[in-house]
This record gives sequence, structure tokens and C-alpha cells, in this order.
Amino acid sequence: MDATDEVIELCRDLLRIDTTNTGDLDTSAGERVAAEYVAEKLAEVGLQPEILESAPGRASVVARFEGEDPSRDALLIHGHLDVVPADASEWSVHPFGGEIKDGYLWGRGAVDMKDFDAMVLALVRQMRREGRKPPRDVVLTFLADEEAGSTYGAQFLVDEHPHHFEGVTEAIGEVGGFSVSVGGDQRLYLIETAQKGIDWLRLHAKGRPGHGSMINDDNAVTALAEAVARVGRHRFPIVMTPTVQAFLEHVSEILGIELDLDDPETAVSKIGPIAMIIGATLRNTANPTRLAAGYKDNVIPGRASATIDCRTLPGQSEIFEQQLRDIVGPDIELEYIHRQPGLETTFDGALVEAMSAALKAEDPGALPVPYMLSGGTDAKQFDKLGIRCFGFSPLRLPADLNFGALFHGIDERVPVEGLQFGVRVLDRFLQQS
Ligand SMILES: [Zn+2]
Repeated sequence: MDATDEVIELCRDLLRIDTTNTGDLDTSAGERVAAEYVAEKLAEVGLQPEILESAPGRASVVARFEGEDPSRDALLIHGHLDVVPADASEWSVHPFGGEIKDGYLWGRGAVDMKDFDAMVLALVRQMRREGRKPPRDVVLTFLADEEAGSTYGAQFLVDEHPHHFEGVTEAIGEVGGFSVSVGGDQRLYLIETAQKGIDWLRLHAKGRPGHGSMINDDNAVTALAEAVARVGRHRFPIVMTPTVQAFLEHVSEILGIELDLDDPETAVSKIGPIAMIIGATLRNTANPTRLAAGYKDNVIPGRASATIDCRTLPGQSEIFEQQLRDIVGPDIELEYIHRQPGLETTFDGALVEAMSAALKAEDPGALPVPYMLSGGTDAKQFDKLGIRCFGFSPLRLPADLNFGALFHGIDERVPVEGLQFGVRVLDRFLQQS
């Protein structure tokens, strides 16, 4: 079977394995089944996959596909097998049914990211059947636990089994290489060259506890609420990073928009639905997400806390911490719950050229541009090994599809033709890599 046919079957099979990651070890399931499925598909074509478990059931797969010249630096291709939960009652099809309807393959994980897992599997299987090798070694990983912070997947592999990544200098993975229509017969293909950092913080306020009927000007809830409101209302200044600047320059030129780098928001507002993604990469952000205080209606508690989900631009984490301290004031204590710095690489070199050439060969209207992801992926773990990471899981999408909304969304689905396009692009890319 040809890879462009098999990719549909493989993606469908993977979607039918419920790999919901709730973030809780007791209720997460399916990763082991999915890992065994993937390992079997790789072993069938003579590769030697290894299943690595970080905790019972939390399984990831690693395999090395030897290239023509194993002395060259290796390329990592990483995908994750887990998905976020889906509430079947909200969906128009069963989220784990793998249905094909209206030209789409539907299911939780269809774009995040069993589509890419299936593309990679289909391509590797075809290459092996045809006796073709990639130009250099390719390390394939299919990982657990991306959706709950990578602890039991990528982080475990990087920390406990780094020898699998020996010689790896570059990587491709999720959330890049997809198309965004910009009118006419042209499509931007957003290649991810940067990611914001994740800084989850807890704010703690202390005060004088007491009876709710008394006057209390040292109330922890009041102090916390004031600090949270200030943070939530604050707009951090625009910081132009090389990636976002390059994105805006490319897009302005393509769309014929005048770009004022002192006022990039005007340009961003003209680029359609992706404005939401790009807008979040112009500055550091801080969103209050949780509050905790008190235990009785008529008791003033001595302490109160709030969680703030902060996303910082590459290189901005320390500066941001100072800015946040200034906003909340000296009486609020800051505690980091989770801190991962942002990533950024340049949009150049042989690998980027291979991506661009592969996209243009399969879509003559392709306009590859670099962009920064406002979220995070497993790339953050591989970056710790000094690997240069890109988001490149190619998909050609219909002009009217709101792709961003499908991630973790209801009725997640991937165009069947997009999957097949992705396999062809990856094939060309890998030959040139
Ligand atoms: Zn993902």
C-alpha cells in the first residue's frame, strides 16, 4: 500500500486508541496500547523500536532509522501519542471513532497530533519497503505525556535515556508547516522557529486573620484581589523578537500592508484568524487562572493565593519577573510552580531550505514564513540537549477552516487530503535533509 493511502488507515487506528491524558496517573490510559501499535508498525518494516516506560502505562517509543551517511549529525522527528480529554456529548461524532466524513478524518488527536504520527509512520514504512534510506540517521520518537507537561514522556527520555539522541542536532515536531490562506491562490505556511516560555506563578498574600464582622485593614483576600486585578489588567510592553519581526516583514510584503514596527498591532489585526496566535507573541502575558482563599463565610483568612499563567518571550523570563514584582508590590510573595524558558532559532540554513522547497514543490502557491508559537511543546525538552527545534508537521488546509480552534477543540478533525499532502511534503523534505 502506498504511504498516502496507508496514512489514513494508520491515523484512523491511532484515533481509535483512546490515549486521554488527564494529567492524573490513575485516569490516564491508552498510551501503552498506542506505543505497542506504533512499535509493531515499525518492527514490521525491520526497524528496532524500543518501548520506554516512565511509570506503569506511560510508554514512549524510540527507533533509529539509519541513513546513507550515519557519520552525519542526526535528525529527530518527534510526535506525541497522548491527547487531551474529549466530552463525547459535545461532539457531532464519537471522539474516538475515527470516522471519515465530508473529506475529514474526525477524532480527538486528529490535528494534535496523531495526524503527524501517522504521516511519519506511513512514510517510514514506505521508505523501508522500497529500500530507501534518509540521507542521515533519523531518530523517531512517539511520546507519552506531552499534554500534561512532558514529565512522563519527552522529559523522561531526555533525562534518563539521552543516549538515544546522540548525534542529534536538529528536530522537527508539531505546530508548524500548516497553511493559512491569504487570498488569491497563495498560502502562508507557518514554520515554527520559536516558542514562548511558560512561567506559572502563585501569588501569596498574608494578612491578619479575624472575625468577619470586625474592621480589618490587613485582609489577605483584599490584598490578593487587588494584586490579581492589577496583573490581569496590565498590558506588558511590546518586545519585538527576531522571529516575530521576520514574520511581520514577510507577511506585510506578501499582503502589501505597510508595517510600522512601533505599532505592529495594526499590521497583526489585518492578517485574519491567525492574528490571535501572532498577537500573543508580541509581548509577555499574564492571565490569572485560579484563586484560593478562606474556609468560612464569616472568617477572614490569614492567607490567600492565586495562580497566574504567564507566557514570556525568549530571553524575557528574568525581566518579566521583575516587571511582575513591581506590579504586585512588595507584600505579595511570588512562587514559581513551573518555569520553562522560551526558544528561538533563525529561519535559515539547509534544513529550512529543505522545508521550503518541499512545500513549494507540492503547493506552488506556498509562502513559507517563520513564526513563534505562543504555547509550548516537547521541543522545550529537546532544546535542553542543544537540539535546534522546528515545528514542521506539514498540512495543506482549506481556506475557510479555523485550524487554531481545532486544537483541544470540539469536533477536532483533519482533512484527508491534507494528511496525504503532508506525507508527500515530508517525503521530499526527508530526501533533502
Ligand atoms: Zn500537541
